Amino acid sequence: MRKALLTGTLAILTACLFFCGGEQKAATEEVPPYTVNAVRPDADGTTRILLLYDMEGISGVNKPEQTGFGNPEYQTGRDNLTQDVNAVVAGLFAGGADVVDVVDGHGSGNPEPDVDLAKLDPRAKMIYRDAPFAPYIDLPETDKYDAVAVVCMHAKTGSPGFISHTYNGGCDWIINGKSINETEIIAYSWGRFGIPVIFASGDDVLKGQLEYMGWLDYVTVKKALSWTDAELYPLDRVHAEMQAKAQKAVENLPQAKYVVFTEPLTAALRTQFPADHSVLGGVPGIDYKDHTVTFPAKTYREAYDGIVELIQVAGLGRLKLIQEYLAQAEQGPRIIKDVRAYMLKKHEDFLAGKWDPYAAPKKEEKADVKYFGAR
Ligand SMILES: [Zn+2]
Repeated sequence: MRKALLTGTLAILTACLFFCGGEQKAATEEVPPYTVNAVRPDADGTTRILLLYDMEGISGVNKPEQTGFGNPEYQTGRDNLTQDVNAVVAGLFAGGADVVDVVDGHGSGNPEPDVDLAKLDPRAKMIYRDAPFAPYIDLPETDKYDAVAVVCMHAKTGSPGFISHTYNGGCDWIINGKSINETEIIAYSWGRFGIPVIFASGDDVLKGQLEYMGWLDYVTVKKALSWTDAELYPLDRVHAEMQAKAQKAVENLPQAKYVVFTEPLTAALRTQFPADHSVLGGVPGIDYKDHTVTFPAKTYREAYDGIVELIQVAGLGRLKLIQEYLAQAEQGPRIIKDVRAYMLKKHEDFLAGKWDPYAAPKKEEKADVKYFGAR
Protein backbone atom coordinates (compact mmCIF):
# COMPACT_ATOMS: atom_id res chain seq x y z
CA MET A 1 0.00 0.00 0.00
CA ARG A 2 2.67 2.44 1.04
CA LYS A 3 4.80 1.77 -1.97
CA ALA A 4 1.83 2.27 -4.27
CA LEU A 5 0.98 5.52 -2.56
CA LEU A 6 4.56 6.73 -2.86
CA THR A 7 4.70 5.78 -6.52
CA GLY A 8 1.43 7.60 -7.06
CA THR A 9 2.73 10.72 -5.35
CA LEU A 10 5.90 10.61 -7.44
CA ALA A 11 3.82 10.30 -10.56
CA ILE A 12 1.77 13.37 -9.64
CA LEU A 13 4.92 15.34 -8.79
CA THR A 14 6.52 14.36 -12.07
CA ALA A 15 3.35 15.29 -13.96
CA CYS A 16 3.31 18.62 -12.18
CA LEU A 17 6.92 19.35 -13.05
CA PHE A 18 6.12 18.72 -16.67
CA PHE A 19 2.73 20.35 -17.00
CA CYS A 20 2.37 23.01 -14.31
CA GLY A 21 4.92 25.25 -15.95
CA GLY A 22 4.09 28.91 -15.33
CA GLU A 23 1.65 28.10 -12.58
CA GLN A 24 4.38 26.63 -10.43
CA LYS A 25 5.20 30.02 -8.96
CA ALA A 26 1.64 30.54 -7.74
CA ALA A 27 1.59 27.08 -6.18
CA THR A 28 4.72 27.74 -4.11
CA GLU A 29 3.82 31.33 -3.19
CA GLU A 30 4.13 31.70 0.56
CA VAL A 31 1.10 32.24 2.74
CA PRO A 32 1.80 35.31 4.91
CA PRO A 33 2.32 34.37 8.60
CA TYR A 34 0.02 37.21 9.64
CA THR A 35 -2.00 40.04 8.14
CA VAL A 36 -2.33 43.71 9.08
CA ASN A 37 -5.88 44.98 8.51
CA ALA A 38 -7.73 48.30 8.56
CA VAL A 39 -10.25 48.71 11.37
CA ARG A 40 -13.95 48.87 10.64
CA PRO A 41 -15.61 52.27 11.18
CA ASP A 42 -17.25 52.69 14.58
CA ALA A 43 -20.86 51.55 14.39
CA ASP A 44 -22.46 52.83 17.59
CA GLY A 45 -20.88 56.25 18.12
CA THR A 46 -19.48 55.23 21.50
CA THR A 47 -15.76 54.68 21.98
CA ARG A 48 -14.94 51.96 24.49
CA ILE A 49 -11.34 51.19 25.35
CA LEU A 50 -10.02 48.25 27.32
CA LEU A 51 -6.85 49.07 29.26
CA LEU A 52 -4.69 46.12 30.31
CA TYR A 53 -1.70 46.66 32.56
CA ASP A 54 1.39 44.67 33.46
CA MET A 55 4.08 45.76 35.94
CA GLU A 56 7.57 45.19 34.54
CA GLY A 57 7.27 48.19 32.23
CA ILE A 58 6.25 50.71 34.90
CA SER A 59 7.94 54.09 34.55
CA GLY A 60 9.45 54.32 38.05
CA VAL A 61 10.50 50.69 38.42
CA ASN A 62 13.99 49.29 37.97
CA LYS A 63 14.07 46.45 40.51
CA PRO A 64 12.34 43.10 39.87
CA GLU A 65 11.22 43.00 43.54
CA GLN A 66 8.96 46.01 42.90
CA THR A 67 6.70 43.86 40.73
CA GLY A 68 6.05 41.01 43.20
CA PHE A 69 3.36 41.14 45.89
CA GLY A 70 4.77 40.47 49.36
CA ASN A 71 8.11 42.19 48.75
CA PRO A 72 8.74 45.39 50.73
CA GLU A 73 9.53 47.10 47.40
CA TYR A 74 6.09 46.23 45.95
CA GLN A 75 4.35 49.33 47.30
CA THR A 76 6.49 51.68 45.19
CA GLY A 77 5.74 49.51 42.14
CA ARG A 78 2.03 49.69 42.88
CA ASP A 79 2.08 53.47 43.37
CA ASN A 80 3.99 54.01 40.14
CA LEU A 81 1.71 51.61 38.26
CA THR A 82 -1.34 53.57 39.39
CA GLN A 83 0.25 56.84 38.22
CA ASP A 84 1.06 55.36 34.81
CA VAL A 85 -2.44 53.94 34.41
CA ASN A 86 -4.00 57.27 35.43
CA ALA A 87 -1.87 59.19 32.92
CA VAL A 88 -3.04 56.89 30.13
CA VAL A 89 -6.69 56.99 31.31
CA ALA A 90 -6.59 60.81 31.26
CA GLY A 91 -5.21 60.76 27.70
CA LEU A 92 -7.77 58.22 26.47
CA PHE A 93 -10.66 60.35 27.76
CA ALA A 94 -9.08 63.53 26.36
CA GLY A 95 -8.88 61.78 22.99
CA GLY A 96 -12.61 61.03 22.99
CA ALA A 97 -13.04 57.73 24.81
CA ASP A 98 -16.48 57.36 26.41
CA VAL A 99 -15.63 54.28 28.45
CA VAL A 100 -12.30 52.98 29.78
CA ASP A 101 -12.40 49.55 31.42
CA VAL A 102 -9.34 48.13 33.19
CA VAL A 103 -8.10 44.54 33.43
CA ASP A 104 -5.13 43.16 35.37
CA GLY A 105 -2.57 41.38 33.18
CA HIS A 106 0.17 40.95 35.73
CA GLY A 107 -0.66 38.51 38.50
CA SER A 108 1.67 39.58 41.30
CA GLY A 109 -0.08 37.25 43.75
CA ASN A 110 -1.98 40.16 45.26
CA PRO A 111 -5.57 39.09 46.02
CA GLU A 112 -6.53 42.63 44.98
CA PRO A 113 -5.74 44.20 41.61
CA ASP A 114 -2.19 45.56 41.44
CA VAL A 115 -3.51 48.97 40.48
CA ASP A 116 -4.55 50.86 43.61
CA LEU A 117 -8.32 51.21 43.19
CA ALA A 118 -8.52 53.96 45.82
CA LYS A 119 -6.26 56.12 43.63
CA LEU A 120 -7.45 54.99 40.19
CA ASP A 121 -9.05 57.72 38.07
CA PRO A 122 -12.76 57.27 38.99
CA ARG A 123 -13.78 57.51 35.34
CA ALA A 124 -12.03 54.18 34.68
CA LYS A 125 -13.68 50.97 35.90
CA MET A 126 -11.99 47.74 36.86
CA ILE A 127 -13.91 44.92 35.23
CA TYR A 128 -14.81 41.91 37.32
CA ARG A 129 -16.00 38.50 36.26
CA ASP A 130 -17.60 35.67 38.20
CA ALA A 131 -15.13 32.97 37.17
CA PRO A 132 -11.34 32.92 36.78
CA PHE A 133 -10.17 33.96 33.32
CA ALA A 134 -6.93 34.33 31.36
CA PRO A 135 -6.83 38.03 30.43
CA TYR A 136 -4.85 37.52 27.19
CA ILE A 137 -7.21 35.00 25.63
CA ASP A 138 -10.54 34.91 27.52
CA LEU A 139 -11.59 38.29 26.23
CA PRO A 140 -14.55 40.11 27.71
CA GLU A 141 -17.37 41.26 25.43
CA THR A 142 -15.44 41.40 22.21
CA ASP A 143 -18.30 43.10 20.40
CA LYS A 144 -18.22 45.99 22.89
CA TYR A 145 -14.69 47.40 22.67
CA ASP A 146 -13.23 49.58 19.93
CA ALA A 147 -9.57 49.38 20.92
CA VAL A 148 -7.10 48.12 23.50
CA ALA A 149 -4.37 50.06 25.31
CA VAL A 150 -1.60 48.13 27.08
CA VAL A 151 0.41 49.79 29.83
CA CYS A 152 3.66 48.92 31.66
CA MET A 153 4.53 46.04 29.31
CA HIS A 154 7.88 44.25 28.87
CA ALA A 155 10.05 42.71 26.17
CA LYS A 156 10.05 39.02 25.24
CA THR A 157 12.11 36.08 26.47
CA GLY A 158 15.69 36.05 25.24
CA SER A 159 15.79 39.77 24.43
CA PRO A 160 17.85 42.31 26.42
CA GLY A 161 14.78 43.99 27.99
CA PHE A 162 14.20 44.68 31.69
CA ILE A 163 12.77 41.43 33.22
CA SER A 164 12.24 40.16 29.68
CA HIS A 165 10.02 37.08 29.55
CA THR A 166 6.93 35.84 27.77
CA TYR A 167 4.21 34.56 30.08
CA ASN A 168 6.87 32.68 32.06
CA GLY A 169 10.63 33.02 32.42
CA GLY A 170 12.61 31.30 29.67
CA CYS A 171 9.58 30.70 27.43
CA ASP A 172 9.75 31.95 23.85
CA TRP A 173 6.39 31.88 22.04
CA ILE A 174 6.73 31.26 18.32
CA ILE A 175 3.63 31.40 16.11
CA ASN A 176 3.83 30.93 12.36
CA GLY A 177 7.59 31.28 12.72
CA LYS A 178 7.36 34.61 14.53
CA SER A 179 8.69 34.96 18.07
CA ILE A 180 6.25 37.21 19.94
CA ASN A 181 6.05 39.21 23.17
CA GLU A 182 3.04 39.58 25.46
CA THR A 183 1.85 42.78 23.79
CA GLU A 184 1.72 40.81 20.54
CA ILE A 185 -0.06 37.86 22.22
CA ILE A 186 -2.73 40.38 23.22
CA ALA A 187 -2.77 42.17 19.85
CA TYR A 188 -3.27 38.93 17.87
CA SER A 189 -5.85 37.75 20.39
CA TRP A 190 -7.99 40.90 20.01
CA GLY A 191 -7.21 40.94 16.30
CA ARG A 192 -9.38 37.83 15.95
CA PHE A 193 -12.33 40.18 16.56
CA GLY A 194 -11.07 43.06 14.43
CA ILE A 195 -9.98 45.12 17.44
CA PRO A 196 -6.63 46.97 17.40
CA VAL A 197 -4.06 47.65 20.10
CA ILE A 198 -3.48 51.40 19.81
CA PHE A 199 -1.21 52.29 22.73
CA ALA A 200 1.65 50.62 24.63
CA SER A 201 4.28 51.64 27.14
CA GLY A 202 7.43 49.93 28.38
CA ASP A 203 11.21 49.95 27.94
CA ASP A 204 13.29 50.74 24.85
CA VAL A 205 13.71 47.06 23.93
CA LEU A 206 9.96 46.44 23.74
CA LYS A 207 9.65 49.55 21.57
CA GLY A 208 11.96 47.94 19.01
CA GLN A 209 9.95 44.72 19.03
CA LEU A 210 6.72 46.59 18.22
CA GLU A 211 8.12 48.88 15.54
CA TYR A 212 6.30 47.03 12.72
CA MET A 213 3.02 48.14 14.30
CA GLY A 214 3.42 51.62 12.94
CA TRP A 215 -0.06 52.78 14.04
CA LEU A 216 0.66 52.02 17.69
CA ASP A 217 1.51 54.98 19.93
CA TYR A 218 4.38 53.90 22.16
CA VAL A 219 5.93 55.57 25.18
CA THR A 220 9.45 54.55 26.23
CA VAL A 221 9.54 54.94 30.00
CA LYS A 222 13.05 53.61 30.67
CA LYS A 223 16.16 52.20 29.07
CA ALA A 224 16.92 48.57 29.90
CA LEU A 225 20.45 48.12 31.24
CA SER A 226 20.14 44.43 32.10
CA TRP A 227 17.50 41.88 33.11
CA THR A 228 17.50 43.40 36.62
CA ASP A 229 18.24 47.07 36.01
CA ALA A 230 17.01 50.00 33.96
CA GLU A 231 17.78 53.68 33.59
CA LEU A 232 14.59 55.48 34.64
CA TYR A 233 13.35 58.53 32.74
CA PRO A 234 11.92 61.53 34.64
CA LEU A 235 8.39 60.65 35.75
CA ASP A 236 6.83 64.05 34.93
CA ARG A 237 8.08 63.86 31.36
CA VAL A 238 7.00 60.24 30.94
CA HIS A 239 3.52 60.82 32.35
CA ALA A 240 2.99 63.87 30.13
CA GLU A 241 4.05 61.82 27.10
CA MET A 242 1.77 58.94 28.13
CA GLN A 243 -1.20 61.26 28.37
CA ALA A 244 -0.46 62.99 25.06
CA LYS A 245 0.12 59.75 23.13
CA ALA A 246 -2.93 58.01 24.63
CA GLN A 247 -4.99 61.00 23.48
CA LYS A 248 -3.48 60.84 20.00
CA ALA A 249 -4.09 57.07 19.87
CA VAL A 250 -7.85 57.53 20.36
CA GLU A 251 -7.99 60.50 17.97
CA ASN A 252 -6.28 58.36 15.31
CA LEU A 253 -8.35 55.25 15.99
CA PRO A 254 -9.93 55.23 12.51
CA GLN A 255 -6.43 54.81 11.03
CA ALA A 256 -5.43 52.00 13.42
CA LYS A 257 -4.82 48.43 12.24
CA TYR A 258 -5.48 45.05 13.76
CA VAL A 259 -3.31 41.98 13.30
CA VAL A 260 -4.34 38.39 12.68
CA PHE A 261 -2.25 35.22 12.41
CA THR A 262 -3.09 33.20 9.33
CA GLU A 263 -4.85 29.95 10.24
CA PRO A 264 -4.17 27.07 10.44
CA LEU A 265 -1.05 27.89 12.39
CA THR A 266 2.28 26.42 13.35
CA ALA A 267 2.96 27.02 17.03
CA ALA A 268 6.12 26.39 19.02
CA LEU A 269 7.58 26.86 22.47
CA ARG A 270 11.33 27.40 22.58
CA THR A 271 12.82 27.26 26.05
CA GLN A 272 15.89 28.64 27.71
CA PHE A 273 16.90 28.72 31.37
CA PRO A 274 15.03 28.36 33.68
CA ALA A 275 12.39 26.69 31.49
CA ASP A 276 13.19 23.24 30.09
CA HIS A 277 10.96 20.80 28.20
CA SER A 278 13.83 18.76 26.71
CA VAL A 279 12.30 15.62 28.29
CA LEU A 280 9.84 15.68 25.36
CA GLY A 281 12.75 15.21 22.96
CA GLY A 282 12.72 11.49 23.80
CA VAL A 283 9.07 11.00 22.85
CA PRO A 284 8.49 9.64 19.35
CA GLY A 285 6.00 11.72 17.40
CA ILE A 286 6.80 14.95 19.19
CA ASP A 287 8.61 17.49 17.05
CA TYR A 288 11.46 18.54 19.35
CA LYS A 289 14.68 20.12 18.20
CA ASP A 290 16.87 23.06 19.26
CA HIS A 291 15.04 23.36 22.61
CA THR A 292 11.81 23.82 20.65
CA VAL A 293 8.57 21.81 20.52
CA THR A 294 6.54 22.59 17.40
CA PHE A 295 2.93 21.59 16.75
CA PRO A 296 0.14 22.41 14.31
CA ALA A 297 -2.93 24.31 15.53
CA LYS A 298 -6.19 24.97 13.75
CA THR A 299 -6.90 28.22 15.57
CA TYR A 300 -5.07 30.90 17.55
CA ARG A 301 -6.86 29.67 20.67
CA GLU A 302 -5.52 26.15 20.09
CA ALA A 303 -2.00 27.52 19.60
CA TYR A 304 -2.27 29.60 22.78
CA ASP A 305 -3.61 26.71 24.87
CA GLY A 306 -1.01 24.30 23.51
CA ILE A 307 1.86 26.64 24.33
CA VAL A 308 0.49 27.23 27.84
CA GLU A 309 0.36 23.45 28.40
CA LEU A 310 3.93 23.09 27.15
CA ILE A 311 4.94 25.82 29.62
CA GLN A 312 3.67 23.54 32.40
CA VAL A 313 6.04 20.82 31.15
CA ALA A 314 8.84 23.40 30.90
CA GLY A 315 8.35 23.95 34.64
CA LEU A 316 10.57 20.86 35.00
CA GLY A 317 13.48 23.27 34.59
CA ARG A 318 12.50 25.02 37.83
CA LEU A 319 11.94 21.68 39.55
CA LYS A 320 15.50 20.63 38.65
CA LEU A 321 16.74 23.87 40.13
CA ILE A 322 14.79 23.31 43.36
CA GLN A 323 16.25 19.80 43.63
CA GLU A 324 19.75 21.16 43.06
CA TYR A 325 19.20 23.83 45.70
CA LEU A 326 17.79 21.40 48.27
CA ALA A 327 20.68 19.00 47.74
CA GLN A 328 23.09 21.66 48.95
CA ALA A 329 20.94 23.67 51.40
CA GLU A 330 21.36 23.21 55.14
CA GLN A 331 17.69 22.30 55.65
CA GLY A 332 17.61 20.38 52.35
CA PRO A 333 17.86 16.77 53.64
CA ARG A 334 15.09 17.41 56.21
CA ILE A 335 12.79 18.97 53.58
CA ILE A 336 13.42 16.09 51.16
CA LYS A 337 12.55 13.62 53.97
CA ASP A 338 9.33 15.52 54.75
CA VAL A 339 8.33 15.57 51.09
CA ARG A 340 8.89 11.79 50.85
CA ALA A 341 6.66 11.24 53.90
CA TYR A 342 4.01 13.52 52.40
CA MET A 343 4.16 11.64 49.11
CA LEU A 344 3.79 8.31 50.92
CA LYS A 345 0.70 9.59 52.73
CA LYS A 346 -0.83 10.83 49.46
CA HIS A 347 -0.05 7.48 47.84
CA GLU A 348 -1.85 5.62 50.63
CA ASP A 349 -4.86 7.95 50.24
CA PHE A 350 -4.83 7.34 46.50
CA LEU A 351 -4.68 3.55 46.88
CA ALA A 352 -7.46 3.66 49.48
CA GLY A 353 -9.62 5.69 47.12
CA LYS A 354 -9.65 8.67 49.50
CA TRP A 355 -8.03 11.03 47.06
CA ASP A 356 -8.14 11.31 43.27
CA PRO A 357 -5.20 13.17 41.73
CA TYR A 358 -6.88 13.00 38.32
CA ALA A 359 -10.12 14.65 39.40
CA ALA A 360 -10.80 17.93 37.64
CA PRO A 361 -9.83 20.82 39.93
CA LYS A 362 -12.83 22.17 41.81
CA LYS A 363 -14.06 25.42 40.34
CA GLU A 364 -13.80 28.27 42.76
CA GLU A 365 -17.33 29.52 42.77
CA LYS A 366 -17.67 31.53 45.89
CA ALA A 367 -20.34 34.15 45.55
CA ASP A 368 -18.17 36.81 47.18
CA VAL A 369 -15.10 36.23 44.99
CA LYS A 370 -14.74 38.42 41.92
CA TYR A 371 -12.05 37.94 39.29
CA PHE A 372 -10.21 40.86 37.76
CA GLY A 373 -7.62 39.21 35.53
CA ALA A 374 -4.26 37.62 36.25
CA ARG A 375 -3.57 36.64 39.85
ZN1 LIG B 1 3.97 40.22 31.58
